[in-house]
Amino acid sequence: MVLMVEEEFNLLLFGIKKIGLVLLLALLFLKILDVVYTRWFKRPAWVHFYLYKVKLSEAHKLILRKNFNFYNRLSNTGKRRFEHRLQCFIDDKEFIPRQDFVLGEDKKVLIAATAVMLTFGMRRYMLPILEKIIVYPTAFYSTIDKRYHKGEFNPRLKALVLSWEDFEEGYRIEDDNLNLGIHEFTHAIHLNSMKRTDTASVIFSDGFSELLRLLRNESLVIEIKKSGFIRAYAFTNEFEFLAVVLENFIESPTEFKSQFPSLYKNIQQMFNFRFAGY
Ligand SMILES: [Zn+2]
Repeated sequence: MVLMVEEEFNLLLFGIKKIGLVLLLALLFLKILDVVYTRWFKRPAWVHFYLYKVKLSEAHKLILRKNFNFYNRLSNTGKRRFEHRLQCFIDDKEFIPRQDFVLGEDKKVLIAATAVMLTFGMRRYMLPILEKIIVYPTAFYSTIDKRYHKGEFNPRLKALVLSWEDFEEGYRIEDDNLNLGIHEFTHAIHLNSMKRTDTASVIFSDGFSELLRLLRNESLVIEIKKSGFIRAYAFTNEFEFLAVVLENFIESPTEFKSQFPSLYKNIQQMFNFRFAGY
């Protein structure tokens, strides 16, 4: 009797091991397929997959509906995905107000929504390089370069620092190609991609190399400078170029696409931006 039970137990164990091996092989196969797909098509095979969706409160949804056009343009499914990501992002980051600033939920939602919008075509959106979001009421004094700043991303402190006044101003006029939040979060996404090897980061880094290749074309650079479409600060260095260009990409996609189609396509691919109007 004992022998039979032991035999049955061994058989069960063998069965479990076999299922485990099959699952492991299936996962490995999917991973290889994913890598091949990404390399071939230069975009992820899938972006959104959640076993459980976190709910966003009605009050938070109302803030989005009133203030965030990107969210309003999404389909119902897209909106639910955006809400899930937004709540997860808010829960993951530490929001720190400075100089007695009152950092209400409405402000947190709009800051987090900027990050979620820019990473909405990416599978990984949490940006592990970023832990703290520090918000000043207005431009803040930096002891490092003895100047007032409107925003900065500090990878050493894993902190994004923003002046609320300037962040808000960025969204006040939606097509002036000036948006502090988009600019600073682009720096964070860029530096994050340099430190990681997930699908989104690989696509981003490959796209950035392609961008640098495009910028080696002197006549294109002259054409960009002459057009005045992209502001002069972009030409400070390659990091600033990307951050400034993203402000144009989000705020004037139609004009961008018609004026510089190759550059536009490159940015679209880096961020896997495939949404209404982009
Ligand atoms: Zn910058």
